[in-house]
Amino acid sequence: MILRLLIVEDEKQICDAVAKSLYDAGYEVDTCYDGEEALEYILTENYDLIVLDLNLPGMDGMEILKELRQSNEETKVLILSARGQIADKVEGLDAGANDYMEKPFHLQELEARIRSLTRRKFVQKDVCLESGDIMFDTIKREAYAKETKISLTRKEKGILEYLLLNLGRPVSQEELMEHVWDASVDSFSGAIRVHMSSLRRKLKAVLGYDAIMNKVGEGYKIREESD
Ligand code: CA
Repeated sequence: MILRLLIVEDEKQICDAVAKSLYDAGYEVDTCYDGEEALEYILTENYDLIVLDLNLPGMDGMEILKELRQSNEETKVLILSARGQIADKVEGLDAGANDYMEKPFHLQELEARIRSLTRRKFVQKDVCLESGDIMFDTIKREAYAKETKISLTRKEKGILEYLLLNLGRPVSQEELMEHVWDASVDSFSGAIRVHMSSLRRKLKAVLGYDAIMNKVGEGYKIREESD
């Protein structure tokens, strides 16, 4: 389960198709068609996983990977390349890639590999996140309150999921922005308040109480028994 992805691929059609299928699978996705620009994104934004082509204008994917790994061991990198030689794979994995896929490829396989890579990060977590009367299925992307399915928007699901992943501590607006939002859409803090209040209203309609607390100066958290 993951939140933010960057797809670096100069063949726009492939890039956009990959981005769309991952977006539909519930990820926040940024795209980039140029190597140098990609490095800028990578060094300034906070991605959970990067799908990285090797032959790129501006800067070679392998160089980008090496640069990234100098300061960041955490972000997963999946190389997606037409270079199918064993030597290329070995070089990529040695440079710190977490997986390597050769072109041509099937979108479904790419998705499956991304799912498995990102789940490794949350090994201890279940497919279903739960707290009290609230449950979120991270595969089906469905939310339940008292076993009643609630219809939520993409952003509301993202917020609920992130709060459930961070039970027990308040999450600030800035942190939500960083993990639930992509770089292009709704990137102003007022947007969070709008989505948040809509999410709280929908939960309250079923539960009869406000399941999300707003701790002034600290952030939002899911209400637990101890609260
Ligand atoms: Ca390429």
